[in-house]
This record gives sequence, structure tokens and C-alpha cells, in this order.
Amino acid sequence: MFNLRGVLWLGLYLLFILAPLFALMLGAMPPARGFWTEFAVALGYSGLAMMGLQFGLTARFRYVTAPWGEDVIYHFHRQVSLVAVGLVFAHPLIIFAAQPELLARPESGEIPIGAVAALLSLAALGALVVAALWRVKLKLSYELWHRTHIAIIGGIVHMVGWSFYLQDPAKRALWIALVAFWVVLLVYVRLVKPLFLLRRPYRVAAVQAQRGDATTLVMEPVGHAGFTFTPGQFGWLTVWGGAFNVTAHPFSFSSSAEAPGGRVEMTIRKLGDFTSTIASVKVGQRVYLDGPYGAFTIGQPADIHVLIAGGIGITPMMSMLLTLADRGDRRPVVLFYGSADPDSTIFQTELAALLPRLDLTIVPVLSKPPQGWAGETGHITAELLSRHLPPAYEQHEYFICGPNPMMDAVETALDRLGVPMSKYHSERYSFA
Ligand SMILES: Cc1cc2nc3c(=O)[nH]c(=O)nc-3n(C[C@H](O)[C@H](O)[C@H](O)COP(=O)(O)OP(=O)(O)OC[C@H]3O[C@@H](n4cnc5c(N)ncnc54)[C@H](O)[C@@H]3O)c2cc1C
Repeated sequence: MFNLRGVLWLGLYLLFILAPLFALMLGAMPPARGFWTEFAVALGYSGLAMMGLQFGLTARFRYVTAPWGEDVIYHFHRQVSLVAVGLVFAHPLIIFAAQPELLARPESGEIPIGAVAALLSLAALGALVVAALWRVKLKLSYELWHRTHIAIIGGIVHMVGWSFYLQDPAKRALWIALVAFWVVLLVYVRLVKPLFLLRRPYRVAAVQAQRGDATTLVMEPVGHAGFTFTPGQFGWLTVWGGAFNVTAHPFSFSSSAEAPGGRVEMTIRKLGDFTSTIASVKVGQRVYLDGPYGAFTIGQPADIHVLIAGGIGITPMMSMLLTLADRGDRRPVVLFYGSADPDSTIFQTELAALLPRLDLTIVPVLSKPPQGWAGETGHITAELLSRHLPPAYEQHEYFICGPNPMMDAVETALDRLGVPMSKYHSERYSFA
């Protein structure tokens, strides 16, 4: 399906990356320094422009993320960052290969500030990439890794400190404007948005233990009406350290979009540093919620809605089912729910309670079934789906959420059943 808004945003993105580079070639030019040096400089500028714009990608602007979905944007952010870092590293390597004499210490003995900044930013960027790729193995917290993003400031100091191309006042003005734009984005994300959240706090109204190492936080707005969301969407939650905490965590809403008083619930499974603290949250605690986000929402016309969840991927499905029930919607829904065993199957009781209120079929699929289990076992495959769904498969609307390997397998299975990509929607919980 042609996505005009997506194409426009992509065009704008390319414009922001390439225009500053081409602008350097306008007007008065400094003396040429040979092809490879100039080429390397162009790579450096492009890499820096790409990095600066990353703030825009991850600043949670709904209009930017909506055409693709947040997970795709973060995936793009990750891949583009690697390309940008590659360009930035290629920049000095090519320069020194073309002009090895530059490696010699200057006669004055003083190393220029631009060179010091370059060295520091390269070292910090190297650390950022290593941490991004092997964060879990290195046992670094997500929060610490988040803070290493400051590396980009070194690149800007290097560019301004060297200023070979920025002698021309017009070019200097353009790059200053660009850097100012990045700073504005940063101020918006780190100051304006938190200030907004500070004025719209939430209070934890209940903390409910769930099966499968999960906990539901029930939150209600304090002194404001909250926000409305579409079932399937998610919000960024900050529990500790106040609204200005650098790292918020994304969680799907697991409650009905029709809940009164702006009340929202998130059901969180223990996984790492942050999620392991959720069970210790106290009733009455102040938390901050930024939302709603995401394009993983029910609402498209379909004969049957097919929800395919694995583990904690049940949370957006729960919100969809509760909302459909509250709205008295009796369209058929089939839920395929993969989990290890009954003990780790979250929302068992809540799902059973929904059966009389919906035209709902639940197909539990257990990978470690207990003795005597008569239901489906193993993984969700094309054969398993076709055992429970009537043809024509391409007319149903599919929603998939779960661990990445499960989602890949289900997407392949749907492809085998002849379901076009436009008929299924995926929400990936791991941005990796
Ligand atoms: C759109 C979306 C909806 C989600 N909904 C739910 C849900 O309903 N219930 C649930 O239990 N989990 C959900 N998650 C996953 C949840 O956000 C992570 O499990 C949680 O942030 C892990 O944090 P941690 O510090 O405990 O674990 P860590 O071990 O630090 O992180 C584990 C992985 O989670 C991701 N992650 C960690 N921190 C962040 C962050 N601040 N921002 C983005 N990604 C991060 C990284 O990929 C990381 O590798 C959702 C994720 C996304 C993207």
C-alpha cells in the first residue's frame, strides 16, 4: 500500500541529511585538498548530520512515527546509527591514509582543540557502538548505555573547532542553524516534554501480581483527565527518579480503552533491571506516563479478528478484547495464545471471564504442556492456524505480538497461508 505520509517524511529526512552537505559546495570554496581528503570530509559531515537527526527520530513525535510504528522507527534508528558511525570512522581513516604526514605531532607541540574533540568523540562513539551491540553480554544497564549518546557533542566541537569549510559566513550560519535545530530537539525531549509530564502525574492505584512473573500497575491521573488511547497502543512509563529521568520504558496498555476516569493499566513481566523493580512499587506512588503511541490498533474492517500472542505479548490483545467487550462489539475474534505452561499463562482468569461477553475463541498453545493436556502444543505454525481458522485466510485481520522468533515464525506461516502483509500487524517488544 502506498504510504504518502511515509514517503514525504523519508524525503524530508534525506533533505536534512544531504542539503547541508551540498550547501558546503556553494559559494566561495577553500583551496582544494585532493579528492580523498575532500571525500573523507564529506563522509564526516554526512555522518554527523545523520547523528544529529537521530534525536528527531527518537523524540517521540507522533507524526513522525505514526506512518511506520515505533518499533520500525527504532530499528531504523539503530541501523542508520551504525551507518553514521561507519561514515564518521571512515572520515579520519581515509584522511590519514591519503595524508599520513598529518599523524605527525605539530611543530608547536600543541594539539588543536578540534583534534582533541575528534579523538574524544571517536572513543566515545566506539564505546557507544560496542555497548549497543553487546550491552547484555557486557551487563551494562540500558540507562547507562543511553547516557553514552552524549558522544555526539564531541563531533560537533570537532567540526566547529576545525571549521575548514565554515569560513564562509553563509555556510557557517547554515551549520549553526542545523546544530541549533538539534539542540532544540534535545531541549524539547529532555526539558519541555518532562515539564509537561510533571504537570500531568499519575498515581498507582493498585499493584496486582499476575502469573508468569508479571505485575499489573493500575494508574489513575492526578489533577487532570488523562488521555484516551486506541486498544493496542502503548505508553512510556517512568516510575523512579521523577519526570526528568532520562530513560522511560515502553509498555502496552493492558486495560480497556473505555475505562472511566482516564485510568490505565500496564502489565509488566520481570526481565531486567527496571522491570524487576515493578513488583515493589507501592500503592500511592507517583509515576509518569507519556502516551499514547503506536499504530498496532484494531479498527480495520474484517470478517474475523485474529489475535496471535506469545508470552507477555498478550497485553495489547487484552486491551483489545476488554475494549471490544465494553463496546458490545460481537464480531468474531480468535485468540491464539502461546505460553510455556498454565502457570506462566498471564490473564487466564480474565480471559475466561470475557468469553460470555464476546464472540471469542481462545486457542491456548503450550510449549511445555502438563500431563493430560488435550489442547495444542509446540509452536504456532501454518498448520495449527489453519486447524482453527476458516478460509479465506486473506480476509481476516491479524495482530501478532510476542518474542521475536515467534513473530518471525508466525509471519512466515501467514505468508504460507496466502495472507498479504497489508492484513497483518506486528508489534515487536524488542527494538533490537
Ligand atoms: C512497544 C512496546 C510495548 C511493550 N509492552 C510491554 C508490555 O506490555 N509488558 C512488558 O512486560 N514489556 C513490554 N515491552 C518490553 C519492555 O519495554 C522491556 O521489557 C523493558 O523496557 C525492559 O527493561 P529492563 O530494564 O527491565 O530490561 P533490560 O534487560 O534493561 O532490557 C531488555 C530489553 O528491553 C529493551 N529496553 C530496555 N529498556 C528500554 C527502554 N527504555 N526503551 C526501549 N526499549 C528498552 C531493550 O531491547 C533491551 O535489550 C514493550 C516494548 C515495546 C517496544
